[in-house]
Amino acid sequence: MSELAPYAANPARSRGRRHPEPAPDGRNEFQRDRDRIIHSGAFRRLEYKTQVFVNHEGDLFRTRLTHSLEVAQIARSIARTLRLHEDLVEAIALAHDLGHTPFGHAGQDALNACMHDSGGFEHNLQSLRVVDKLEQRYAEFDGLNLTFELREGILKHCSLKNARALGDVGERFLKKMQPSLEAQVANLADEIAYNNHDVDDGLRSGLITLDQLSKVEIFARYLAEVQAKYPAIQGRKLIHETVRRMINALVVDVCKQSLGNINAAQVSNLEQVRKAPPLIAFSEEMRQQQIELKRFLHSKLYQHYRVSRMSAKAQRIIRELFAVFIEDVGLMPDEHQERAKQDKPRAVADYIAGMTDRYAIREYQRLFAVSEKEL
Ligand code: MG
Repeated sequence: MSELAPYAANPARSRGRRHPEPAPDGRNEFQRDRDRIIHSGAFRRLEYKTQVFVNHEGDLFRTRLTHSLEVAQIARSIARTLRLHEDLVEAIALAHDLGHTPFGHAGQDALNACMHDSGGFEHNLQSLRVVDKLEQRYAEFDGLNLTFELREGILKHCSLKNARALGDVGERFLKKMQPSLEAQVANLADEIAYNNHDVDDGLRSGLITLDQLSKVEIFARYLAEVQAKYPAIQGRKLIHETVRRMINALVVDVCKQSLGNINAAQVSNLEQVRKAPPLIAFSEEMRQQQIELKRFLHSKLYQHYRVSRMSAKAQRIIRELFAVFIEDVGLMPDEHQERAKQDKPRAVADYIAGMTDRYAIREYQRLFAVSEKEL
């Protein structure tokens, strides 16, 4: 790692952990955070959770695990160029989706609706809940006891009501301040990763076509560049050569624009970063092109009738699981029944949110199937 920039987060100056622990041996505090995340149960479950495509539809589609790895890789590239702390950026990227429900956004929407009268459900807040509370691995505390900087980086957005309840990590929302540049980088890397892999997965699935995408400016530009350089290229190679150019262009753009912003704001430490406007950003031109790509994906892929069918089915599974457990918490495994004694809806939401796609499907079959074979 090259020398850290003065505006980078520094593990030696971390605001620390909620439960004080001796400094790690041979690792810095952010490396320890990353290692705890990778060893967590919630991290392993990301392998069987999806974003757009349900897990069993094909082995080649992204899962939340491969998505998180792609985010970490993109975020580290940007962090290295900007001389930010790569371990922190990587740890935030690996943790950012830990709180996602099964079945992607359809699952989250359904669970949020179920929790309407009980505080709602928000995956971003749930990621923090997983690392602060739900992981049960250490003798002296619940959760993973991560550093303030890591926890702050996970919490991308938050209502003022929740911010007040959250204490230290909620503070910046009340004071309208920014998180570290590392957190800002992880956030943008998330967007770069999913826009591009959804293009790739969307094409692979056949739900969107090259012809449709060639009307989207950023895709069209790199498609033309690849076809000019390799006139005979087609199929997977054509798609990958185009997508890799888009990712590269976005990363280069973010680095250039952000360095300019950092210089213009003249920030020379993390406290100044917190008080400045968001500094990690696309150029205005690139931002507009990203919006166009997002709109395309929204209307042509996320709202494709075949995706809508999966989403409708996923929502039904979540709703019915929620209803059956609220009706009788005795149908949940013991540890979740125990939690339900304090807050029943939250305990049910935690149990459901922790499920993988396939676990939720099996749980549904176990509870509702009536054929002899299923029993
Ligand atoms: Mg993500």
